Amino acid sequence: MNSEPERTNVQTSSPRTPALQSKLPRVGTTVFTVMSALAQQHGAVNLGQGFPDFPCDPALVDCVTDAMRAGHNQYPPMTGVPALREAIAAKIATLYGHRYDANSEITVTAGATQAILTAILAVVRPGDEVIVLEPCYDSYEPNIALAGGKAVFVPLGRDGEAGSFRPDFERIAAAITPRTRAILVNTPHNPSATVWSAEDMQRLDELLRPTDILVISDEVYEHMVFDGRAHESVARHPHLAARSFIVSSFGKTYHVTGWKVGYVAAPAPLMAEFRKVHQFNVFTVNTPVQHGLARYMAEPRPYLELPAFYQRKRDLFRDGLARTRFRLLPSEGSYFQCVDYSAISELGESDFCRWLTAEIGVAAIPLSAFYEGGREQGIVRFCFAKRDETLHAALERLARL
Ligand code: PMP
Ligand code: GLN
Repeated sequence: MNSEPERTNVQTSSPRTPALQSKLPRVGTTVFTVMSALAQQHGAVNLGQGFPDFPCDPALVDCVTDAMRAGHNQYPPMTGVPALREAIAAKIATLYGHRYDANSEITVTAGATQAILTAILAVVRPGDEVIVLEPCYDSYEPNIALAGGKAVFVPLGRDGEAGSFRPDFERIAAAITPRTRAILVNTPHNPSATVWSAEDMQRLDELLRPTDILVISDEVYEHMVFDGRAHESVARHPHLAARSFIVSSFGKTYHVTGWKVGYVAAPAPLMAEFRKVHQFNVFTVNTPVQHGLARYMAEPRPYLELPAFYQRKRDLFRDGLARTRFRLLPSEGSYFQCVDYSAISELGESDFCRWLTAEIGVAAIPLSAFYEGGREQGIVRFCFAKRDETLHAALERLARL
């Protein structure tokens, strides 16, 4: 007679998920997600997370729909649809005077976030240092940590001078060590809305020329520069271009942040390494969207008109804010406007944003969210990539302050 096999402890104990030692122990849900949820909960006007609340050009939707109907629905080439890479290379050559080879020097990515992570994973080794200028976009430091590197933070502007978020090249120079692998640069800048000048780029060039330091240049707001300024792409500076990954995003340029398509331009030897990581990270990016974008890019007007489009919104928003007790910081580019609220409240930045959302009905992002140590300066960031009526509704509420 066969007896039932004896059940072991392993079979009778309840299921157990092994404890994991977090690779990113200090990371929680991003402030953008938290503030958008809070805005929704309170029915607040959401000027927090940076995204347009108006539709993209219907002609762009038509281009993508046509591509789907034409059967462009299987894997595209790993590096991106050739016509789109050609269009990107042509745009960069026309605007910034540097001709990238569409075959070997341009790769289409799943947005700028993936592009930045991929560039960092491709070049940063355990123990390497990467210079990051603070305040900065929130994905940079966790990306460096995942590569085993160390972010070396250098504040923009001088201590105590709130609002002067310009690169301080003496401090950047002082942060360079033999372990410095790369520097992350972002102009127009999120969150401070400052724009680097040609002189800033020349200073960076002079500083890096004797070194092997690479540049990861986050240029997602390249088409949002105001008051007649020119976007200072590293592509304009041959010695910088030779050591740089340029990152941009169609989400920003064409009001389609949810599509998550962007690109990277870099010299062939750098791009070859980038593609090794890209290949096993996303492999390829949405085919019909790439075909649609390639067709839509044939007409440069949409991005050439973007500075005027956003400058008008900036001015509308600033004119309204000028009638409140907020102190306005400069907004030279991007779709952000920072304000100092110290004449209105003594709350910390996060508490002030929560209060503003719940009690006044307008959501903003605390500037401290863009600092590793959460530095407090009494400054919050608004996004003005919104319909005029949204901006008017927010201003009406802010006027109560
Ligand atoms: N860099 C900066 C400075 C940004 O503001 C954003 C937009 N959130 C990104 C990168 C990421 O862009 P994408 O949505 O294309 O991933
Ligand atoms: N880039 C946008 C911002 O800075 C949002 C990005 C995100 O939600 N991760 O607000």
